[in-house]
Amino acid sequence: MIGCRSRNQAVESNMRLAIYPGSFDPVTNGHLDILERALAIFDHVIIAVLVNPGKPGLFSLAERVSMLQSVIGEYPKVTIESFRGLTAEFAKQRGARTLIRGLRAVSDFDAELRVALVNRRLNSELDTIFLMTSAQNLFLSSSTVKEVAQLGGDTSSFVPAMVDRRLRERFAALATQDEETKP
Ligand code: ADP
Repeated sequence: MIGCRSRNQAVESNMRLAIYPGSFDPVTNGHLDILERALAIFDHVIIAVLVNPGKPGLFSLAERVSMLQSVIGEYPKVTIESFRGLTAEFAKQRGARTLIRGLRAVSDFDAELRVALVNRRLNSELDTIFLMTSAQNLFLSSSTVKEVAQLGGDTSSFVPAMVDRRLRERFAALATQDEETKP
């Protein structure tokens, strides 16, 4: 019971700080939807932009952070940081005990559950809260947005205007590079 009480006190004192980790390559309206929901629960959210070894990046870490900064602007309740390494370690360093993850479909759940349990094994005080997106963002992911943009499709309803522009610029530059290197 004593252990229980001290943990609860500690949890209470940190209860309102959460980390929202992800690749954000690039930030989409789905990410912003989850962020907004998290801010209704927490006093402060640290967006942690990470390198995911399983996902090759279109934008560099610095570019992803700068896009998030432009989209979110100066907002006292949100900090944007990048990091390489374990999310569980990053949370410990920042004194946070809660991770936010978004859920789209049931298919997200299996992988997310595994990651959440591994994170808790690495940092026993860390809990993951899953927030559900609104129906209109159910199908939205950075990967889908990149595929659509690469094929010249309109992504303006999936991402903020500034990100839409950056996507078009990036794929135009990559297409020019491809042309130049063609034998
Ligand atoms: P990761 O590579 O860690 O999955 P992402 O940037 O793809 O990083 O996603 C970060 C978080 O945002 C994840 O929890 C993901 O489920 C959530 N997310 C991304 N898009 C959406 C969306 N459309 N609706 C709900 N959650 C989303």
